Amino acid sequence: MQPKKFKLLILGGGTGGISLAARLVRHLGPGQIGIVEPASDHYYQPAWTLVGAGLYRKEKTRRPEAEVIPRGCTWLQTAVQKVFATENRVRLASGTDVHYDFLVVATGLRLNWESIAGLQGNLGQNGVCSIYEYDQVDKVRSMLHDFTGGTALFVMPAPPIKCAGAPQKIMYLADGLFRKAGVRAQTKIIFATAGKSIFAIPEFTAPLNAVLQRKGIEARFSHRLLSIDAQKKVATFAKTTETKAADGALLTATTEENIAYGLLHVVPTMSAHSYVAESNLACADGPQAGWLQVDMHTLQHPMHRNIFGIGDVTGVPNSKTGAAIRKQVPVVERNLIEAMACKSPSHLYDGYASCPLVTDKGRVILAEFGYNGKLLPTFPLNPTKERFSMWVLKRYLLPRLYWDGMLRGRA
Ligand code: FAD
Repeated sequence: MQPKKFKLLILGGGTGGISLAARLVRHLGPGQIGIVEPASDHYYQPAWTLVGAGLYRKEKTRRPEAEVIPRGCTWLQTAVQKVFATENRVRLASGTDVHYDFLVVATGLRLNWESIAGLQGNLGQNGVCSIYEYDQVDKVRSMLHDFTGGTALFVMPAPPIKCAGAPQKIMYLADGLFRKAGVRAQTKIIFATAGKSIFAIPEFTAPLNAVLQRKGIEARFSHRLLSIDAQKKVATFAKTTETKAADGALLTATTEENIAYGLLHVVPTMSAHSYVAESNLACADGPQAGWLQVDMHTLQHPMHRNIFGIGDVTGVPNSKTGAAIRKQVPVVERNLIEAMACKSPSHLYDGYASCPLVTDKGRVILAEFGYNGKLLPTFPLNPTKERFSMWVLKRYLLPRLYWDGMLRGRA
């Protein structure tokens, strides 16, 4: 019989939930923390880009959830259905209710595959693939390896998405694979992005534009994927153009554009799981609508002071990455300890995120930045340069830091 009340209940046993639990169990002791997580396995998602290019073994990115649940925590293997925040109660999919003193929401995000008309039933076949799902990532590998030429189309949706660099990283690696296979000359690579530039942080646009030029990749900006016709292998985009009127006003017009492809790497829009808004815990409007409402620095819910958020689910203007979570975890840990002692939280998250932009096998630009695009480099090196050392960090060191450091509350 599992307990019906916890001092701390953590929703989600992914990167954020486990990293936090591993630290707080040392403070709270055994039996005080419950973790609600329906999945049987835990994933190291950042390596999926490498798996898609055949540079990392898929199986190494997955471990049984039971192995990562910190000793002393109770795993409730079911999903959250609703949070009744005014009653400190959570309704679980198993039908039972659990009470808490403090709650951390860390359920990540949802991939909105259904938002792309015509995609259903075609992901993983007919030349359509994605590195954004564990079950799909090896199909990316085989499609890239089997490609014999034509148009390879890579899609980047409107933000927020997790690891906004991944849709272009897999494209750069695909370019390398096509060259190695001798099919690059008969291949056109197109990056169709909903954004207005190659990367949101201005300091990294020039080096990334140089990569596009070096590789002969065509970027099409302000392109939002609407649908695909998998039989005809045509993707339809809403293309937005902006012009200035005589009085200086900005005029926008949207037209449809079809792009024929031989290979399509697709990434959908993303959102928080619907229970967050249904539990009245979400931002009501603005760019963060639907995401968990928290103070962007303390990560505490503004209305329910015993609720904190961590990771992709949070409605903060950062870049959704595991690297962001590494900096959020100690902030939430210390703020929770203060809240438990009836003090106001005093520890602040600066929006740090990092994106190791793989531009080739053996080359990475380590983009590290915080709120308002402020550069926050860890190393005393020019952060906008492609480096082999940062490839070693991404390929070899970060996975170890994840499994042996973050998930054990040591990094
Ligand atoms: P997750 O780790 O996704 O965990 C959320 C958990 O909540 C899951 O286990 C899920 O099963 C559970 N859950 C969902 N719904 C419910 C529910 N109703 N009730 C209970 N539990 C629920 N980050 C980097 O730092 N660097 C990179 O290079 C990088 N590359 C990436 C490449 C790819 C292809 C992808 C997909 C991601 C990448 N990331 C990268 C992003 C990083 O993996 C995520 O930002 C991070 O894992 C998010 O952690 P999280 O705890 O918020 O969510």
